[in-house]
Amino acid sequence: VGGAGTGSGPSLRPVRSSPVSRAAPERVTVLGAGIVGLSSALALVTRARRPPAVTVVADRFLTETTSAGSGGFWMPYALNDTPAADIERWGSASFERFAELHRSPDVDAAGVSLVEVRGVGDDPPPSWAGSVPNYRALSARDLALMGLGEHSAGFAYTSFVADQERHLRWLTERCREHGVEFERRRVGSLAELSGVAGGGVVVNCSGLGARDLFGDRDVVPIRGQTVRVDAPWVTGVWQADGGATYVIPQRDSVVLGGTRQVGEALEASRDADVADVLERTSRLLPGLARAPVLRAWAGLRPGRSRVRVAAESVPVPGAPALRVAHNYGHGGAGVTLAWGCAMDVLEMFEGMAQ
Ligand SMILES: Cc1cc2nc3c(=O)[nH]c(=O)nc-3n(C[C@H](O)[C@H](O)[C@H](O)COP(=O)(O)OP(=O)(O)OC[C@H]3O[C@@H](n4cnc5c(N)ncnc54)[C@H](O)[C@@H]3O)c2cc1C
Repeated sequence: VGGAGTGSGPSLRPVRSSPVSRAAPERVTVLGAGIVGLSSALALVTRARRPPAVTVVADRFLTETTSAGSGGFWMPYALNDTPAADIERWGSASFERFAELHRSPDVDAAGVSLVEVRGVGDDPPPSWAGSVPNYRALSARDLALMGLGEHSAGFAYTSFVADQERHLRWLTERCREHGVEFERRRVGSLAELSGVAGGGVVVNCSGLGARDLFGDRDVVPIRGQTVRVDAPWVTGVWQADGGATYVIPQRDSVVLGGTRQVGEALEASRDADVADVLERTSRLLPGLARAPVLRAWAGLRPGRSRVRVAAESVPVPGAPALRVAHNYGHGGAGVTLAWGCAMDVLEMFEGMAQ
Protein backbone atom coordinates (compact mmCIF):
# COMPACT_ATOMS: atom_id res chain seq x y z
CA VAL A 1 0.00 0.00 0.00
CA GLY A 2 1.23 3.48 -0.69
CA GLY A 3 4.12 4.11 -2.98
CA ALA A 4 7.69 5.22 -2.93
CA GLY A 5 7.21 8.91 -3.46
CA THR A 6 8.79 10.79 -6.27
CA GLY A 7 8.17 14.23 -4.92
CA SER A 8 5.52 15.03 -7.49
CA GLY A 9 2.83 15.19 -4.82
CA PRO A 10 1.71 12.84 -2.11
CA SER A 11 0.42 9.38 -2.78
CA LEU A 12 -3.13 9.60 -1.54
CA ARG A 13 -3.97 5.90 -1.67
CA PRO A 14 -5.39 5.08 1.75
CA VAL A 15 -3.17 2.96 3.94
CA ARG A 16 -5.08 0.39 6.01
CA SER A 17 -5.94 1.88 9.39
CA SER A 18 -5.03 0.14 12.60
CA PRO A 19 -8.07 -1.02 14.58
CA VAL A 20 -8.48 2.07 16.76
CA SER A 21 -11.88 2.92 18.15
CA ARG A 22 -13.60 5.72 16.24
CA ALA A 23 -13.77 7.70 19.46
CA ALA A 24 -10.02 7.64 20.19
CA PRO A 25 -7.90 10.16 18.35
CA GLU A 26 -5.35 8.64 15.99
CA ARG A 27 -1.79 8.63 17.38
CA VAL A 28 0.83 10.39 15.30
CA THR A 29 4.57 10.44 15.92
CA VAL A 30 6.32 13.27 14.11
CA LEU A 31 9.99 12.34 13.81
CA GLY A 32 11.99 15.59 13.70
CA ALA A 33 11.73 19.00 15.37
CA GLY A 34 13.13 21.23 12.64
CA ILE A 35 11.00 23.65 10.63
CA VAL A 36 9.54 20.72 8.66
CA GLY A 37 8.55 18.60 11.68
CA LEU A 38 7.12 21.46 13.76
CA SER A 39 5.12 22.80 10.79
CA SER A 40 3.71 19.31 10.13
CA ALA A 41 2.81 18.82 13.80
CA LEU A 42 1.06 22.20 14.00
CA ALA A 43 -0.85 21.60 10.76
CA LEU A 44 -2.14 18.25 12.08
CA VAL A 45 -3.35 19.51 15.46
CA THR A 46 -4.88 22.73 14.12
CA ARG A 47 -6.32 21.63 10.76
CA ALA A 48 -7.16 17.91 10.75
CA ARG A 49 -10.88 16.97 10.67
CA ARG A 50 -10.26 14.88 13.82
CA PRO A 51 -7.03 16.24 15.32
CA PRO A 52 -4.70 13.38 16.27
CA ALA A 53 -2.68 13.02 19.47
CA VAL A 54 0.76 14.15 18.28
CA THR A 55 4.16 13.51 19.83
CA VAL A 56 7.25 15.11 18.29
CA VAL A 57 10.27 12.85 18.77
CA ALA A 58 13.75 14.17 18.01
CA ASP A 59 17.32 14.16 19.25
CA ARG A 60 17.79 17.87 18.40
CA PHE A 61 15.49 20.75 19.25
CA LEU A 62 15.38 24.51 18.64
CA THR A 63 18.92 25.96 18.35
CA GLU A 64 20.42 22.48 17.93
CA THR A 65 18.70 21.95 14.55
CA THR A 66 19.87 22.86 11.06
CA SER A 67 16.69 24.87 10.68
CA ALA A 68 17.69 27.23 13.50
CA GLY A 69 20.91 28.25 11.77
CA SER A 70 19.35 28.79 8.37
CA GLY A 71 18.90 32.21 6.82
CA GLY A 72 15.13 31.83 7.24
CA PHE A 73 14.64 33.54 3.90
CA TRP A 74 11.80 32.57 1.52
CA MET A 75 13.58 31.54 -1.67
CA PRO A 76 13.62 28.13 -3.39
CA TYR A 77 17.29 27.00 -3.44
CA ALA A 78 19.27 23.77 -3.86
CA LEU A 79 16.20 21.71 -4.78
CA ASN A 80 17.80 19.76 -7.65
CA ASP A 81 15.10 17.99 -9.74
CA THR A 82 12.11 18.83 -7.53
CA PRO A 83 9.37 19.61 -10.11
CA ALA A 84 8.78 23.33 -10.60
CA ALA A 85 5.02 22.78 -10.08
CA ASP A 86 5.65 21.32 -6.60
CA ILE A 87 8.06 24.14 -5.71
CA GLU A 88 5.44 26.70 -6.72
CA ARG A 89 2.58 24.96 -4.89
CA TRP A 90 4.51 24.36 -1.64
CA GLY A 91 6.37 27.66 -1.87
CA SER A 92 3.22 29.72 -2.50
CA ALA A 93 1.38 28.13 0.43
CA SER A 94 4.32 28.96 2.70
CA PHE A 95 4.58 32.49 1.29
CA GLU A 96 0.87 33.05 2.03
CA ARG A 97 1.39 31.68 5.53
CA PHE A 98 4.22 34.19 6.17
CA ALA A 99 2.02 36.97 4.78
CA GLU A 100 -0.76 35.95 7.20
CA LEU A 101 1.66 35.89 10.13
CA HIS A 102 3.12 39.24 9.09
CA ARG A 103 -0.38 40.74 9.36
CA SER A 104 -1.13 39.00 12.68
CA PRO A 105 -0.49 40.14 16.27
CA ASP A 106 2.00 37.25 16.51
CA VAL A 107 4.35 38.77 13.93
CA ASP A 108 7.08 39.70 16.41
CA ALA A 109 6.98 36.43 18.37
CA ALA A 110 7.00 34.47 15.10
CA GLY A 111 10.04 36.46 13.91
CA VAL A 112 8.55 37.29 10.51
CA SER A 113 9.70 40.31 8.45
CA LEU A 114 8.73 41.47 4.99
CA VAL A 115 11.90 42.27 3.03
CA GLU A 116 12.92 43.82 -0.24
CA VAL A 117 15.43 41.68 -2.11
CA ARG A 118 18.11 43.06 -4.41
CA GLY A 119 20.27 40.82 -6.54
CA VAL A 120 23.13 41.56 -8.89
CA GLY A 121 23.88 39.44 -11.95
CA ASP A 122 21.99 38.42 -15.05
CA ASP A 123 20.14 35.48 -13.45
CA PRO A 124 17.18 34.49 -15.65
CA PRO A 125 13.81 34.92 -13.91
CA PRO A 126 13.20 31.76 -11.83
CA SER A 127 10.19 29.49 -12.41
CA TRP A 128 8.70 30.76 -9.12
CA ALA A 129 8.96 34.46 -10.07
CA GLY A 130 5.15 34.61 -10.26
CA SER A 131 4.83 33.46 -6.62
CA VAL A 132 6.37 36.65 -5.19
CA PRO A 133 5.31 40.30 -5.51
CA ASN A 134 7.24 42.62 -7.80
CA TYR A 135 9.77 40.28 -9.37
CA ARG A 136 11.50 42.48 -11.91
CA ALA A 137 14.76 43.10 -13.71
CA LEU A 138 16.64 46.18 -12.50
CA SER A 139 17.47 48.65 -15.24
CA ALA A 140 20.92 50.21 -15.63
CA ARG A 141 19.35 53.37 -14.17
CA ASP A 142 17.97 51.54 -11.11
CA LEU A 143 21.38 49.98 -10.51
CA ALA A 144 23.17 53.32 -10.88
CA LEU A 145 20.72 55.04 -8.51
CA MET A 146 21.47 52.40 -5.87
CA GLY A 147 25.21 52.88 -6.28
CA LEU A 148 25.49 49.54 -8.11
CA GLY A 149 26.52 51.02 -11.44
CA GLU A 150 29.43 48.61 -11.86
CA HIS A 151 26.94 45.76 -12.34
CA SER A 152 25.37 45.39 -15.77
CA ALA A 153 22.28 43.48 -14.58
CA GLY A 154 20.24 42.88 -11.48
CA PHE A 155 16.81 41.92 -10.18
CA ALA A 156 14.52 42.70 -7.28
CA TYR A 157 11.45 41.29 -5.55
CA THR A 158 9.60 41.25 -2.24
CA SER A 159 9.81 38.29 0.12
CA PHE A 160 9.80 37.25 3.78
CA VAL A 161 12.43 36.35 6.36
CA ALA A 162 11.41 34.27 9.39
CA ASP A 163 14.12 34.55 12.05
CA GLN A 164 14.35 30.83 12.77
CA GLU A 165 15.34 30.96 16.42
CA ARG A 166 12.16 32.91 17.11
CA HIS A 167 10.06 31.07 14.60
CA LEU A 168 10.90 27.59 15.90
CA ARG A 169 10.20 28.73 19.46
CA TRP A 170 6.88 30.19 18.36
CA LEU A 171 5.92 27.00 16.50
CA THR A 172 6.87 24.92 19.57
CA GLU A 173 4.68 27.09 21.82
CA ARG A 174 1.72 26.90 19.41
CA CYS A 175 2.15 23.10 19.22
CA ARG A 176 2.20 22.82 23.03
CA GLU A 177 -0.95 24.95 23.26
CA HIS A 178 -2.68 22.40 21.06
CA GLY A 179 -1.56 19.44 23.15
CA VAL A 180 1.51 18.29 21.20
CA GLU A 181 3.99 16.42 23.37
CA PHE A 182 7.75 16.43 22.90
CA GLU A 183 10.19 13.63 23.55
CA ARG A 184 13.96 13.83 23.21
CA ARG A 185 15.46 10.59 21.96
CA ARG A 186 17.57 9.31 19.14
CA VAL A 187 15.72 6.69 17.11
CA GLY A 188 18.28 4.11 15.97
CA SER A 189 16.23 1.68 13.87
CA LEU A 190 12.86 1.11 12.22
CA ALA A 191 12.07 -1.51 14.91
CA GLU A 192 12.63 1.16 17.57
CA LEU A 193 10.50 3.63 15.58
CA SER A 194 7.75 1.03 15.39
CA GLY A 195 7.82 0.70 19.19
CA VAL A 196 7.75 4.48 19.63
CA ALA A 197 4.83 4.84 17.17
CA GLY A 198 2.78 2.16 18.97
CA GLY A 199 0.63 1.39 15.92
CA GLY A 200 0.04 5.03 15.02
CA VAL A 201 1.08 7.00 11.95
CA VAL A 202 4.68 8.22 11.61
CA VAL A 203 5.37 11.54 9.91
CA ASN A 204 8.98 11.34 8.85
CA CYS A 205 10.54 14.83 9.02
CA SER A 206 14.02 13.59 9.91
CA GLY A 207 15.83 15.57 7.20
CA LEU A 208 19.34 14.23 6.78
CA GLY A 209 18.49 11.52 9.36
CA ALA A 210 16.34 9.73 6.74
CA ARG A 211 19.52 8.53 5.05
CA ASP A 212 20.44 6.15 7.87
CA LEU A 213 17.07 5.47 9.46
CA PHE A 214 15.15 4.73 6.24
CA GLY A 215 18.19 3.71 4.17
CA ASP A 216 17.57 6.46 1.60
CA ARG A 217 20.95 6.82 -0.13
CA ASP A 218 19.56 9.67 -2.23
CA VAL A 219 19.83 11.93 0.84
CA VAL A 220 23.18 13.73 1.03
CA PRO A 221 24.45 16.60 3.17
CA ILE A 222 24.96 19.92 1.43
CA ARG A 223 27.15 21.91 3.79
CA GLY A 224 26.51 25.62 4.22
CA GLN A 225 28.80 28.08 6.04
CA THR A 226 27.44 31.34 7.43
CA VAL A 227 28.80 34.23 9.48
CA ARG A 228 26.57 36.41 11.67
CA VAL A 229 27.54 40.05 12.01
CA ASP A 230 26.22 43.11 13.76
CA ALA A 231 25.06 45.41 10.93
CA PRO A 232 21.71 47.01 11.80
CA TRP A 233 21.99 49.25 8.74
CA VAL A 234 21.21 46.25 6.52
CA THR A 235 17.44 46.26 6.13
CA GLY A 236 16.96 44.18 3.00
CA VAL A 237 18.23 40.92 1.49
CA TRP A 238 21.13 41.12 -0.95
CA GLN A 239 22.24 38.41 -3.36
CA ALA A 240 24.99 37.76 -5.90
CA ASP A 241 26.63 34.87 -7.74
CA GLY A 242 23.31 33.20 -8.60
CA GLY A 243 22.24 33.02 -4.94
CA ALA A 244 25.56 31.59 -3.69
CA THR A 245 26.40 34.89 -1.95
CA TYR A 246 23.75 36.36 0.32
CA VAL A 247 23.11 38.89 3.08
CA ILE A 248 19.97 38.30 5.16
CA PRO A 249 18.88 40.62 8.00
CA GLN A 250 17.52 38.83 11.07
CA ARG A 251 16.20 40.41 14.29
CA ASP A 252 19.49 40.58 16.20
CA SER A 253 22.11 39.95 13.52
CA VAL A 254 22.71 39.79 9.80
CA VAL A 255 23.44 36.40 8.23
CA LEU A 256 26.19 36.34 5.61
CA GLY A 257 26.61 33.33 3.36
CA GLY A 258 27.31 31.01 1.97
CA THR A 259 28.69 27.79 0.64
CA ARG A 260 27.03 24.83 -1.09
CA GLN A 261 29.37 21.90 -0.45
CA VAL A 262 27.69 18.75 -1.71
CA GLY A 263 28.58 15.58 0.23
CA GLU A 264 30.48 17.44 2.97
CA ALA A 265 29.40 16.55 6.51
CA LEU A 266 31.56 18.89 8.63
CA GLU A 267 29.28 20.72 11.07
CA ALA A 268 32.09 22.83 12.50
CA SER A 269 32.97 26.17 10.92
CA ARG A 270 35.99 26.28 8.66
CA ASP A 271 38.24 29.37 8.73
CA ALA A 272 38.81 29.36 4.96
CA ASP A 273 35.04 29.32 4.33
CA VAL A 274 34.47 32.13 6.84
CA ALA A 275 37.11 34.26 5.07
CA ASP A 276 35.60 33.47 1.68
CA VAL A 277 32.08 34.40 2.83
CA LEU A 278 33.30 37.67 4.35
CA GLU A 279 35.23 38.50 1.20
CA ARG A 280 32.30 37.87 -1.18
CA THR A 281 29.68 39.65 0.94
CA SER A 282 31.98 42.65 1.53
CA ARG A 283 32.42 42.94 -2.22
CA LEU A 284 28.62 43.17 -2.48
CA LEU A 285 28.20 45.59 0.48
CA PRO A 286 31.62 47.05 1.42
CA GLY A 287 30.41 48.23 4.85
CA LEU A 288 30.21 44.61 5.95
CA ALA A 289 34.02 44.46 6.10
CA ARG A 290 33.82 46.57 9.27
CA ALA A 291 30.82 44.87 10.83
CA PRO A 292 31.65 43.12 14.12
CA VAL A 293 31.52 39.34 13.70
CA LEU A 294 29.15 37.75 16.22
CA ARG A 295 29.60 34.09 15.34
CA ALA A 296 30.31 31.66 12.54
CA TRP A 297 28.10 28.62 11.94
CA ALA A 298 27.91 25.73 9.50
CA GLY A 299 24.97 23.43 8.89
CA LEU A 300 24.08 20.48 6.71
CA ARG A 301 21.16 20.91 4.33
CA PRO A 302 19.21 17.69 3.73
CA GLY A 303 19.94 17.43 -0.01
CA ARG A 304 18.05 14.99 -2.25
CA SER A 305 17.39 14.61 -5.97
CA ARG A 306 13.90 15.89 -5.12
CA VAL A 307 11.94 16.69 -1.99
CA ARG A 308 10.08 13.57 -0.84
CA VAL A 309 6.50 14.04 0.31
CA ALA A 310 4.78 10.67 0.01
CA ALA A 311 2.85 8.01 1.92
CA GLU A 312 4.47 4.62 2.28
CA SER A 313 3.83 1.39 4.15
CA VAL A 314 7.29 0.55 5.47
CA PRO A 315 8.00 -3.11 6.32
CA VAL A 316 9.58 -3.66 9.75
CA PRO A 317 11.13 -7.05 10.60
CA GLY A 318 9.07 -8.78 13.30
CA ALA A 319 6.48 -5.99 13.53
CA PRO A 320 3.48 -4.74 11.55
CA ALA A 321 4.32 -2.42 8.66
CA LEU A 322 4.66 1.24 9.63
CA ARG A 323 2.25 3.74 8.13
CA VAL A 324 4.57 6.59 7.17
CA ALA A 325 3.97 10.03 5.68
CA HIS A 326 7.41 11.11 4.47
CA ASN A 327 8.34 14.80 4.41
CA TYR A 328 12.09 15.27 3.99
CA GLY A 329 14.89 16.24 1.61
CA HIS A 330 14.16 19.99 1.46
CA GLY A 331 17.73 20.96 0.51
CA GLY A 332 18.28 24.70 0.80
CA ALA A 333 14.60 25.53 1.07
CA GLY A 334 13.07 23.93 4.17
CA VAL A 335 11.82 27.28 5.48
CA THR A 336 10.52 28.18 2.01
CA LEU A 337 8.50 24.99 1.56
CA ALA A 338 7.63 23.77 5.09
CA TRP A 339 4.05 25.03 5.43
CA GLY A 340 3.08 23.93 1.91
CA CYS A 341 4.52 20.45 2.53
CA ALA A 342 2.73 20.32 5.89
CA MET A 343 -0.54 20.82 3.99
CA ASP A 344 0.27 17.67 1.99
CA VAL A 345 1.09 15.80 5.21
CA LEU A 346 -2.36 16.79 6.45
CA GLU A 347 -3.92 15.41 3.26
CA MET A 348 -1.96 12.16 3.55
CA PHE A 349 -3.00 11.82 7.19
CA GLU A 350 -6.68 12.33 6.35
CA GLY A 351 -6.30 9.60 3.70
CA MET A 352 -4.67 7.20 6.17
CA ALA A 353 -7.00 7.91 9.07
CA GLN A 354 -10.27 7.24 7.16
C1 LIG B 1 23.73 27.72 5.91
C2 LIG B 1 22.29 27.40 5.60
C3 LIG B 1 21.42 28.41 5.25
C4 LIG B 1 20.10 28.12 4.93
N1 LIG B 1 19.25 29.14 4.60
C5 LIG B 1 17.97 28.85 4.25
C6 LIG B 1 17.06 29.90 3.93
O1 LIG B 1 17.40 31.09 3.99
N2 LIG B 1 15.80 29.56 3.57
C7 LIG B 1 15.38 28.26 3.50
O2 LIG B 1 14.22 28.01 3.12
N3 LIG B 1 16.21 27.25 3.83
C8 LIG B 1 17.49 27.51 4.20
N4 LIG B 1 18.35 26.50 4.53
C9 LIG B 1 17.86 25.11 4.42
C10 LIG B 1 17.07 24.72 5.65
O3 LIG B 1 17.82 24.98 6.80
C11 LIG B 1 16.71 23.23 5.58
O4 LIG B 1 16.08 22.91 4.37
C12 LIG B 1 15.78 22.89 6.73
O5 LIG B 1 16.39 23.24 7.97
C13 LIG B 1 15.40 21.44 6.75
O6 LIG B 1 14.52 21.29 7.83
P1 LIG B 1 14.22 19.90 8.48
O7 LIG B 1 13.20 20.13 9.54
O8 LIG B 1 13.95 18.88 7.43
O9 LIG B 1 15.64 19.45 9.10
P2 LIG B 1 16.39 19.76 10.48
O10 LIG B 1 16.26 21.16 10.91
O11 LIG B 1 17.78 19.23 10.25
O12 LIG B 1 15.65 18.84 11.53
C14 LIG B 1 15.76 17.43 11.48
C15 LIG B 1 15.16 16.90 12.76
O13 LIG B 1 15.13 15.46 12.69
C16 LIG B 1 15.65 14.92 13.88
N5 LIG B 1 16.19 13.59 13.60
C17 LIG B 1 16.81 13.16 12.46
N6 LIG B 1 17.14 11.86 12.59
C18 LIG B 1 16.73 11.46 13.81
C19 LIG B 1 16.80 10.23 14.53
N7 LIG B 1 17.33 9.13 13.98
N8 LIG B 1 16.29 10.19 15.79
C20 LIG B 1 15.72 11.28 16.35
N9 LIG B 1 15.64 12.48 15.72
C21 LIG B 1 16.13 12.56 14.46
C22 LIG B 1 16.70 15.94 14.32
O14 LIG B 1 16.98 15.79 15.70
C23 LIG B 1 15.98 17.24 14.01
O15 LIG B 1 15.11 17.58 15.07
C24 LIG B 1 19.65 26.76 4.91
C25 LIG B 1 20.52 25.75 5.31
C26 LIG B 1 21.84 26.05 5.65
C27 LIG B 1 22.75 24.94 6.10
